[in-house]
Amino acid sequence: MALINNEKLRHILHSGWRGVCPRCGKASMFDGWLKLAARCPVCGLDYRFAHADDGPAFFALCITAFPLTFVAVWIEVTFAPPWWVHALVSAPILGLGCLGSLRPFKGWLVASQYLNEAIEAGTEASWERLNAGHDAPAPGEEPDQDRR
Ligand SMILES: [Zn+2]
Repeated sequence: MALINNEKLRHILHSGWRGVCPRCGKASMFDGWLKLAARCPVCGLDYRFAHADDGPAFFALCITAFPLTFVAVWIEVTFAPPWWVHALVSAPILGLGCLGSLRPFKGWLVASQYLNEAIEAGTEASWERLNAGHDAPAPGEEPDQDRR
């Protein structure tokens, strides 16, 4: 029950499912289907903190594709249909299910990173400069001249 009543978890699930900014909840965090916007147009949240990497693909495979594969196997075992039934039913279910779930998984990961203040170990100083309104150069990158 503690998990259901967890306000932070509800906020993460809500922001991720709707794909809205985890800070203000008013604008989309995406600039396209899966590409994150540079920053929130409403509150200015800079999305450079977000590194979902291949997390959405991992969750789409484990949580979406795995059960849907059993649907395809169930169709095969129960009905023994010709191959084109799988081409018309199983393949679209798997493809659309995985592609459709990538965006909410990415939204949940980004919202979770924001609310849990997840940062890579050893980059605290860079994040402090970034949050102070200055760009922190990436490792090996020269600082932006006009932002000094
Ligand atoms: Zn915002």
